[in-house]
Amino acid sequence: MTVQVTTVLGPVPVDQLGRVDAHAHLFLRSPILPGEEFQDGDAMTGEVAEVARSGIETVVDLTPIGLGRRPARTARLSRDTGVQVVLATGVHRAAHYPAGHWLYEVDDDTLLDCLVTDLTTGIDERDWQGPRPLPSEVRAGIVKLGASYHHLQPAERRWFRVGAAAGTRCGVPVAVHTEIGTSAHEVLDELEQLGVAPSAVMLAHLDRNPDPGLHVELAARGAFLGYDTIGRTKYHPDAVVLDLIGAVAAAGHAGQILLGTDVGRRGMLRAYGGGPGMAVLGRTFVPRLRAAYGDALVATVLQENPQRLFTGSGAAQP
Ligand SMILES: [Zn+2]
Repeated sequence: MTVQVTTVLGPVPVDQLGRVDAHAHLFLRSPILPGEEFQDGDAMTGEVAEVARSGIETVVDLTPIGLGRRPARTARLSRDTGVQVVLATGVHRAAHYPAGHWLYEVDDDTLLDCLVTDLTTGIDERDWQGPRPLPSEVRAGIVKLGASYHHLQPAERRWFRVGAAAGTRCGVPVAVHTEIGTSAHEVLDELEQLGVAPSAVMLAHLDRNPDPGLHVELAARGAFLGYDTIGRTKYHPDAVVLDLIGAVAAAGHAGQILLGTDVGRRGMLRAYGGGPGMAVLGRTFVPRLRAAYGDALVATVLQENPQRLFTGSGAAQP
């Protein structure tokens, strides 16, 4: 049976994902990014139309619960642009949720029910912020979790338990925000103890800590390395990511690299008058990647690896 990936327009055979931006955000708002929220459907449709023109065919939106997900509007955007979109459920690192947020108080079973509902019935149209659930017809296809800088907070550990349970029950991969690429081994240890194999885990933001030796270790455990600061010149030039890919590939682990744009602020979107914009991956980075390492490596990281992430999670569904 072919593994199916749940997109906002329904299940898609994993080999039809095409070229994938494995870490993006189409709608986002967070109290730690005041003034940087983006919630406008028409603006984002324009942005994603550019992504389509840049040659990217699928976008994995890693926005978790309570940070501005708009499932029905995302489905319309996908229909209008032709770009396939996978949405997430799960809980981000604690910094994104102010003290007193219900996520700190809720019991494990209730939270698991929220995640499983998002994955199997439909994402709550009110993003679990309303007085009662309002399931959309749009299901999530991946679990997103978050870890703090060099440690896991007690609340994050609990959300890991629930997220891992949802991921294994529903056969979907787990993406984890690492803060500046730290605690990656600890994240894999924690998830492994909870029954999630490293081959079903994407470690986001690893390129914030561009340490090839560490990345080779993580890849050797079977984890996927999320390089998702493409175009984020304030962190480092793209040349750093290009060199990192070369080093990890030379060590035999090109098959574990995933690329993303992770545009998480209004000011980074072309549609809102900023930059570099979500199309930076296809338009600027991929040509450099191809020039440096050739077509086969581009196909590996943009097409084959996302397929393997979803296959590694055993997401076989009827
Ligand atoms: Zn992100």
